[in-house]
Amino acid sequence: MDGSWNIKKQFLVRAVLPVIGLGLILAICGYYSFRFAMLGEARRDLENVGNAVLLYYDYTYPGDFELSAEESSGKTKYELLKGDTVVTREYSFMDDLKERTNIDVTIYYADTIILTTIGSEDGVRPVGYGCPDKILEEVLNAGQTNFYSDTVIGDVNYYAYFSPIKNSEGKIVGMIFAGKPSEEIQKSLIKALIPLILIGIVLVIGIGAASAASGQRFVSAIEKVDTYFKAVSEGNLNALLHQEVAGRKDELGNMARNAQTMQKSLKKLIECDGLTELFNRRYAEKRLNQVYTKNTANEAPFCVSIVDIDFFKKVNDTYGHEAGDIVLKGVSRILEKNIQGKGYVARWGGEEFLMVFEQSTVKEAAEILERIRGQIEESTFVSGPDVIRVTISSGVTERRDGVGLNELLKEADDRLYYGKQSGRNRVISSPVPNA
Ligand code: GH3
Ligand code: MG
Ligand code: MG
Repeated sequence: MDGSWNIKKQFLVRAVLPVIGLGLILAICGYYSFRFAMLGEARRDLENVGNAVLLYYDYTYPGDFELSAEESSGKTKYELLKGDTVVTREYSFMDDLKERTNIDVTIYYADTIILTTIGSEDGVRPVGYGCPDKILEEVLNAGQTNFYSDTVIGDVNYYAYFSPIKNSEGKIVGMIFAGKPSEEIQKSLIKALIPLILIGIVLVIGIGAASAASGQRFVSAIEKVDTYFKAVSEGNLNALLHQEVAGRKDELGNMARNAQTMQKSLKKLIECDGLTELFNRRYAEKRLNQVYTKNTANEAPFCVSIVDIDFFKKVNDTYGHEAGDIVLKGVSRILEKNIQGKGYVARWGGEEFLMVFEQSTVKEAAEILERIRGQIEESTFVSGPDVIRVTISSGVTERRDGVGLNELLKEADDRLYYGKQSGRNRVISSPVPNA
């Protein structure tokens, strides 16, 4: 389980985290480019409104801005003139523009606020106030047109446009300000960004979940292969590979199919005899025990038979060992063919075979053995120029209550021996004298 947890973890790190990371990078880039675009538009609006106000005054009241000071009852009273007109309380155009655009406008004479829309709602306009030193330096003294992101006017932070106002001689006499509260700009930025952020979150979660799900399917396939490998490595040569994995067309499927082939080779190596390709004695005994236990419990019939090639030593002596091998293989195929579907055959010793008829009575088994005996008698085995004929003898017995497996095998062997004694090429299926 540790391994699969690791793969899961690796998958999360390699597939899901990059999606989240990419989502975050896109969100940050998106936020800044959006902010940049929005601020650009806000700047244009502020600049247009500021210039529109100046244009309005220029058209309506031709002449320069000037400050006139009048002494009246010991106090100095200041008025702003545009040409010959006093414009100190000329708010109609500015206030109207503010109502339409929500942009505040202020006209500074030198560094002092003379006309402003700020505070127009409650009537307390910050007339007579100064401006921050930085703006004084850059706009009023140096004549720059600038934008400032956090200018405090009357307790409010403004995103502001400042531009110098010049008289007909080109001398700077004041400044025009157009601005929006920074908070308002921030709010509209967030308002515009929320749908984008939501779409982004949904996309990241969606892609992340899809990626995690496909990763999970992959990990689950690996777990199945792992379970299969574990079973085979623990000696279960009949372990089955999950169909879902065996059917995969990718490398994992290949790996699993290769393991299946390996399992088959291993099974053959462990369970079969190399020369005849029949089951070997070890496997035959194991399976025989299972059949004995099951059929005894079910009180079902089954037969064991020992088959031996007659005078086989002579075959070797006459035609050579290789020819003997050819005969062994040929006989094996005939035995195998005849017992198919009824039980199994194994190589029990050199030229001896065990045949187990898993559901047959001794009568049925003897019939099959008789047929085999006839077929072998009729067969010829070819080794180079030699055509070889052999016969077989066999002893067969059926399971009976209270009779052990070794006893049954001994009975079959005794009957075979009796067959040898009484002329060979015989099937002995009934009790023999003096056994
Ligand atoms: P019987 O009819 O009494 O069974 O006589 P037999 O000659 O068949 O019996 P015996 O036990 O005397 O000889 C068996 C021979 O089988 C001896 C041995 O060399 C031969 N043999 C055993 N295994 C193999 C094998 O794998 N290949 C070959 N070619 N011969 C084998
Ligand atoms: Mg023999
Ligand atoms: Mg023998």
